[in-house]
Amino acid sequence: MKTPIASLSIAARATLNMHSLNNEGGEGNQIQTRMVEIVGDDQNLHSVNAISGDMLKHVLMEHFYQLARARHVSLCHSCQNFNTNRINADTDFIKSASKKDAEFIDQTLRLCAIDDVAGFLATEGRSTPRKSVSEFGWVLGLPEKVRTDSYFHVKYAPERGEEKRAADAAGQKTGANLGQSIFHRPASSGIYAMVCHLELARIGYNDIAQDYAVGEEERQLRASLLLESLLHTFIELNGAMRSTQLPHLVALEGAITTSTSVTPAPLVSPLMGGGEDRESYRKQLDGIVAALNGNGEEMVRLQTFGTIGEFASKMRALIDSSSPFAIAVGR
Ligand SMILES: [Zn+2]
Repeated sequence: MKTPIASLSIAARATLNMHSLNNEGGEGNQIQTRMVEIVGDDQNLHSVNAISGDMLKHVLMEHFYQLARARHVSLCHSCQNFNTNRINADTDFIKSASKKDAEFIDQTLRLCAIDDVAGFLATEGRSTPRKSVSEFGWVLGLPEKVRTDSYFHVKYAPERGEEKRAADAAGQKTGANLGQSIFHRPASSGIYAMVCHLELARIGYNDIAQDYAVGEEERQLRASLLLESLLHTFIELNGAMRSTQLPHLVALEGAITTSTSVTPAPLVSPLMGGGEDRESYRKQLDGIVAALNGNGEEMVRLQTFGTIGEFASKMRALIDSSSPFAIAVGR
């Protein structure tokens, strides 16, 4: 007997060394990293290194895409090539699809698991939105617990004879960039706060028609793949510059909350408490879970983890023991 899960939240602190998952592109030979302003636990503003939620969601969908392909899950033509325009780029489908919003959503959800869980805004000749089932916040460095430095690199040219230099100079004009060059590349190390939320109850759910467009078996498959992708996202943080600056993930701790009903799985920021207090946010979550459950049945559950391995095994247990909760439908 599987436990129905309606929603799931994760609040975590990850310690990452020497990563540049968040590079914004370059100015000349200087690559910029992303800094944002946040209010710390001391009520003051701090400038911290950050990775956008878009990056994490993109990583999640990359993992989901790989799993969906391996398991032969239905995807639209566009998502079969991991085109981020999703259903909008499946021109044949868009041409033949229903002009009525509710029917269009039904057709899209049946056709494509990625459009179902990642959401979209259909824009051609219509404006039909699908809210994402997965949500990520910014990954934020804890004030005073993260540092970014710029490192000097050289690309050496193997041979520097006169003829070669002339050829390289000619290549430079065409953009071939064959000569010796120097560049600066940033890398950051520190403790980062991460938040995410999954609405498993909405997998296959048409928000306009207020009913499910796909059957129970397909919903179960999509939910399992989504949870599995989430596990992969945390243990294999993709992003920019991984070919030479693969991040060192040295620690992961936090909390997973799950809800078996329409009560939302609670989430608080792991920034709470600041760098010196590792328990505040988990204690708060514990209190919220107790308050939500009251004296009734346990609808909301909190699980904490202190290591990467513990997180992975708790997620594995959830994947194997859960099914997506079904909202009562009126149609
Ligand atoms: Zn698609």
